[in-house]
Amino acid sequence: MTDTADEPREQDASPEGLVRRARTVRARAYAPYSGFHVGAVVLTVSGATFEGVNVENVSYRLTTCAEQTALAAMCAAGAREEVVAVAVAGDGDAPCTPCGACRQTIAEFGPRAVVHATGARGPVHSHRIDVLLPDAFTPARLAAGAQAAPAPTAAASLDDPPAAAGTEEVPRGGA
Ligand SMILES: [Zn+2]
Repeated sequence: MTDTADEPREQDASPEGLVRRARTVRARAYAPYSGFHVGAVVLTVSGATFEGVNVENVSYRLTTCAEQTALAAMCAAGAREEVVAVAVAGDGDAPCTPCGACRQTIAEFGPRAVVHATGARGPVHSHRIDVLLPDAFTPARLAAGAQAAPAPTAAASLDDPPAAAGTEEVPRGGA
């Protein structure tokens, strides 16, 4: 089986196709410091796909993950559709699961997305993002807080103290 790397817009939205493309695009990673190359492909609900790679920086802390550059490419292209799947492939045999920051970023655009994590070869682990990032901070939660927030002027906030909306029971699970 040969990859059609010279046809980047070739659409194969199957999990296998997304994984194959993530492994292929991985070769374009800019990873001179870690030597760890990661490729990602984002699939939207209409079938559009966007690729990304990790981009490192000499300062180290400015490194950007492949999932985030793929989602940035999606935004730059003007796509504002729900993300339904993300394939991530890193060097080595073990699945390259998204880091914590990427899980939050994937959830922003694909609250029900399936993440296919894999290595350069080997098994593919597929999980929904809400399994990888349980109890995520969501736009709905932000909106609920914004509605409860005091008005920006001091006088208004004194006259109208915010309601105690959003107070929740803290679950006390068994140890
Ligand atoms: Zn990441």
